[in-house]
Amino acid sequence: MRVKIVAGNWKMNNDKEETEALIEALKSKGKFTGVQVRIAPTSVNLVQAVNATKDTDIKVSAQNMHYSSSGAFTGEISANMLESIGVNSIILGHSERRAYFNETDADLEKKVAKAIQHDMEVIFCFGEELNDRKENTHFDVVEKQLKAALFSIQPSDWKYIVLAYEPVWAIGTGETASPEQVQEMHAFIRQLIENQFGKIVADNVSILYGGSVKPANAQEIFSKPDVDGGLIGGAALNADDFFAIIQSA
Ligand code: PEP
Repeated sequence: MRVKIVAGNWKMNNDKEETEALIEALKSKGKFTGVQVRIAPTSVNLVQAVNATKDTDIKVSAQNMHYSSSGAFTGEISANMLESIGVNSIILGHSERRAYFNETDADLEKKVAKAIQHDMEVIFCFGEELNDRKENTHFDVVEKQLKAALFSIQPSDWKYIVLAYEPVWAIGTGETASPEQVQEMHAFIRQLIENQFGKIVADNVSILYGGSVKPANAQEIFSKPDVDGGLIGGAALNADDFFAIIQSA
């Protein structure tokens, strides 16, 4: 079933104490109704985050993983390792991973397959750059990214997938796509999924928007019919702001 999700990508922020404090502040807000919440701390704080969120409705996601099970991949983390500490949700394909760590569509296809093998939820990020939008190729770019990494999976595997449309020009810039631009792209994405995998898959997949979502703009964006919540960067580092965004979903 299609669900509302608000996920906080903490990126390379928050040491052990800050992680603890932010989780405690979020927990103090009480229960979340009608929306699922994810937080994605840095890998060294995942164990702590899993322990601190036990018996809450906050789920912990990782920010990256390798597509191999084990081996000589210095600095990397495997799906088995995440599974062994109780993490079964992963953000894949973030534009920062693509841009700064050379993550390719082919890598992502393998990572998605590995996550699915491990029954892990994949929050799959994709989106065009500013030039693509200026040149009016943003739909083509998004279609290519989705096809490359996700169109080889089985229709039944879509239960693991959450899509996160994140136009690169709106990430961490304070520049947000307008609610109309977001709805237009999300409707396009849902149609693409329907064409390839059928209406049931398309109707059930949650499509999040990410890119400078704040308490002030969340409600309008989330009110659009094909927007099922958000992936939040900067504003997820503040419990009050993140909670306000969660309540907008
Ligand atoms: C992100 O990095 O996924 C993101 C959406 O960041 P921000 O909310 O800070 O734009």
